[in-house]
Amino acid sequence: MAITKSRQAPAYTGQAYPITDHTFDVVVVGAGGAGLRATVGCSQAGLRTACISKVFPTRSHTVAAQGGVAASLGNMGKDTWQWHMYDTVKGSDWLGDQDAIEYLVRNAPAAVYELEHWGVPFSRTEDGKIYQRPFGGMTTEFGEGPPAQRTCAAADRTGHAMLHTLYGQALRYNTEFFIEYFAIDLIMDEDGHCRGVVALKMDDGTIHRFRSQQTILATGGYGRAYFSATSAHTCTGDGGGMVLRAGLPLQDMEFVQFHPTGIYGAGCLITEGARGEGGYLTNSEGERFMERYAPSAKDLASRDVVSRSMTMEIRGGRGVGKNKDHIYLHLDHLDPKILHERLPGISESAKIFAGVDVTREPIPVLPTVHYNMGGIPTNFHGEVLTKVDGNPDTVVPGLMAIGEAACVSVHGANRLGSNSLIDLVVFGRAAGLRCADTVTAGEKQPELPKNSADLALSRLDKYRNAAGGTPTADLRGRMQRTMQDNCAVYRTGETLEEGHKLIHEVWAGITDIGTKDRSLIWNSDLIETLEFDNLITQAVVTMDSALNRPESRGAHAREDYPNRDDKDWMKHTLSWIDDEKRTVTLDDRPVHTYTLSNDIEYIKPKARVY
Ligand SMILES: Cc1cc2nc3c(=O)[nH]c(=O)nc-3n(C[C@H](O)[C@H](O)[C@H](O)COP(=O)(O)OP(=O)(O)OC[C@H]3O[C@@H](n4cnc5c(N)ncnc54)[C@H](O)[C@@H]3O)c2cc1C
Repeated sequence: MAITKSRQAPAYTGQAYPITDHTFDVVVVGAGGAGLRATVGCSQAGLRTACISKVFPTRSHTVAAQGGVAASLGNMGKDTWQWHMYDTVKGSDWLGDQDAIEYLVRNAPAAVYELEHWGVPFSRTEDGKIYQRPFGGMTTEFGEGPPAQRTCAAADRTGHAMLHTLYGQALRYNTEFFIEYFAIDLIMDEDGHCRGVVALKMDDGTIHRFRSQQTILATGGYGRAYFSATSAHTCTGDGGGMVLRAGLPLQDMEFVQFHPTGIYGAGCLITEGARGEGGYLTNSEGERFMERYAPSAKDLASRDVVSRSMTMEIRGGRGVGKNKDHIYLHLDHLDPKILHERLPGISESAKIFAGVDVTREPIPVLPTVHYNMGGIPTNFHGEVLTKVDGNPDTVVPGLMAIGEAACVSVHGANRLGSNSLIDLVVFGRAAGLRCADTVTAGEKQPELPKNSADLALSRLDKYRNAAGGTPTADLRGRMQRTMQDNCAVYRTGETLEEGHKLIHEVWAGITDIGTKDRSLIWNSDLIETLEFDNLITQAVVTMDSALNRPESRGAHAREDYPNRDDKDWMKHTLSWIDDEKRTVTLDDRPVHTYTLSNDIEYIKPKARVY
């Protein structure tokens, strides 16, 4: 099935690079929680599977996840998937697709038990069940009851435990890992099928071309488009960059989550689990101000609400510290034994990065970029979607996306804490199941088009030999500051117009980019430039999508349009780029206003009350 004529790169005529060819049934790009879970599933189904990762698998950003993974196990009190669904829909500010959300929450308990059986060392209750803590926005009785204890935790190192366990499982099968290989670009044929991916082996500079029946992008978020982010320096959204260059759209890029409690100055995360365990925020007057903004949920209101409230306090002159530019998070009233048992990691981070002993002093914190709700549009099987001839659910053959790189969309305009780790394993598993259904092991694959490596090689060669006057670090710094200043917690038409101008200037500046290292062995100058190229296009579509949406919803708070506008804007934004003309095209997709089964009715939009 041809979906559309795919944009093809001009023929590459530069230096010849020797290419090593590989053929697999499935190639997974990324070895974080999502990539590893999909890898396990595909391998279990008997498919010949490769997993490519630019860092060693257990160094993927998932390792840094702290607070936990959400599932309605009901170990600490009654809980149901219907309540989890209600909270996720409300948290998404009605931008989430309810069929996908139902799929997520219904499959969540089984996904957690699977992790338990595979060996994740969850914290335990007295009677040996998986311990669950309260997290922001997680309630009971469809928002009417007390907070739910739904977030399953392995102390405050849940992601670490999950990632190591998943890697151990992946090694049980015949998966071939290509570690410290940097995927450069997708191979798209003329008919819009994805045929695989081209990668650079970073330690010796050889080029590897992977042909596959399905390519699964699990490359994580693009937090590093911003100056201050909780995400690792490797979170450069490479999958999103590849998709944009392939002429496909990204979805809902204006929705960038700020986590309320990044350590002031350093940006490292203090998990929401800290407030789940009883921590609270204060301003310079010592006031627990969240009681004013969210009388019912208080410090455990959803992240968009807490981040905005903190910003209002700072703007109102009630910030703490010499410059009155941050807020205090108190844990000093909690039993040191509990802190030691349940929050050992963040106690250590606070000591190292803020010089604070959490048993005695508050931690200085500030809202910090944390998560990208937007990404590569997919259905709940993980298949990538594009809009062709008015059909917004056109499947791109041969291409899937999962994890933070994808936009299913279960998080809509705002993700609830602990809903990402569960998204990784539920949709990682779903992608594996879909491949088991649609891919035939060992099936003969068509020859690759002659120009299959041209796009990747032309970019590689261009940046390796780039002799312009602007170092990559300068352009990256300008991009990060523009995003931080002009596309932050609060936005106005004016700041976004200025941001639009500035970010397009940075994008245009890429023609004058200069690199110094011409070698092919551990060339970090080249890798950072390829990563910057991925980041800048996503920064541009983030800014342009934000400017285009005249309403406030979830993490997108427009001061000039403070209300949510369900009549005209309860829809997903789609954004495409033209990399040569450096232009952006925007369109939209309807939100799925239906559920997956008849077991629950569509949850109608309501005003958000906290
Ligand atoms: C500090 C922190 C704490 C968090 N805590 C929680 C929490 O408690 N609960 C929760 O639900 N969520 C949490 N989150 C969010 C959640 O951890 C992430 O959204 C999630 O881990 C992303 O997983 P992923 O598998 O999509 O990608 P990642 O874990 O980011 O992995 C990306 C993978 O892609 C590979 N890759 C990327 N580009 C390329 C390329 N060009 N070539 C080859 N390989 C490539 C990388 O090597 C890596 O293996 C937290 C996030 C942060 C930053």
